[in-house]
Amino acid sequence: MTPEPTSASTSHTAGWEAFRRALSTWFERVRRPLPWRETSDPWLIWMSEVLLQQTRVEQGLPYYEAFATAYPTVEDFARADLDDVLRLWEGLGYYARARNFHAAAQHVVRERGGVFPTSRSDWESLPGIGPYTSAAISSLAQNQPEAVVDGNVIRVITRLFRVDADASQSRTRALVDRLAHEILDDTRPGRHNEAMMELGATVCLPRSPRCDACPVLAWCRAAAEGDPERFPVKKKKGPIPHLTIVVGLLCDAEGRFFVQRRPESAMLGGLWEFPGGKCREGEGLEEALEREFREETGAQVRAGASICTVRHAYSHFRITLHAFSCHLKPGSPSPTTALPHRWIAPDALSELAFPRANRRIIEALISFPGPWT
Ligand code: SF4
Repeated sequence: MTPEPTSASTSHTAGWEAFRRALSTWFERVRRPLPWRETSDPWLIWMSEVLLQQTRVEQGLPYYEAFATAYPTVEDFARADLDDVLRLWEGLGYYARARNFHAAAQHVVRERGGVFPTSRSDWESLPGIGPYTSAAISSLAQNQPEAVVDGNVIRVITRLFRVDADASQSRTRALVDRLAHEILDDTRPGRHNEAMMELGATVCLPRSPRCDACPVLAWCRAAAEGDPERFPVKKKKGPIPHLTIVVGLLCDAEGRFFVQRRPESAMLGGLWEFPGGKCREGEGLEEALEREFREETGAQVRAGASICTVRHAYSHFRITLHAFSCHLKPGSPSPTTALPHRWIAPDALSELAFPRANRRIIEALISFPGPWT
């Protein structure tokens, strides 16, 4: 049963001050010194929030350092070429986020004279900024009483209040958001939000939460009932779809490879790739490659040797990607597409931004003995 937030707050009202103090004292003790915690510059805090979304701190830190060095101000970033941004972003995934971040920075510089929004709703008017990022920037950089609700905070809140409803539902998310605001320390909202996220990341773990080391154990209903791992409640998911993908590496007489750029609106939009696509039910790999290459580029190719097989997992599906050398059939037109495309030497491939799975093909391509033509 979903706990009634009002009754929860009534019974705990006197306790929230003590809760906030316990959380804050603990956080001061364990707080990791991360570069974005040592600044109040809205630009660097915005950057860290975008880079660290759905990313572990250890993985995101080198990206933050690279971006903060390359683009110390929003003006530097707005002036940057999108290709350079995507190249620096490579490996972080969610490439639409990079494009939106760049577009939002350009908007701030060109339409607002470099002045940052000052309210949560104003932040959300920028491309790619949703409730999580707007709450984070406005509380951390601008001291506004906004509660940040990420995956870690959802786990902590649903356990504290034993929220017994599917956490993926918007009604439950609204309830969690309300509860997060109820316990928020609005004298130091940024620090409180950091502490809640840190608690979820290091103590209130998905499996085997460390309740004996938890500073807010005394307020936790799930711990009192002995069933914290039951929260957050999640609906059972179906099996993760799997796709078989084929791509063709076509080399010209000068040793250059044909690559094309994905449409901006597509998944991994703006990144470069080798032509190819999904294998249909019952279709052989070589047959699929020849069809996909023809459909995408107009060129008739014959599949050659297998270069490598790459397995990769995205958030909602997995792929097995088969890369082949391929050869133009006699009389075939050269490949071309309505999308940006080019022939590029192997040693220049590192200058373009590719999806991570394609990067592994490039490594295999460099050591492949041929023949290519
Ligand atoms: Fe999480 Fe346990 Fe702390 Fe409750 S007591 S918030 S379940 S770590």
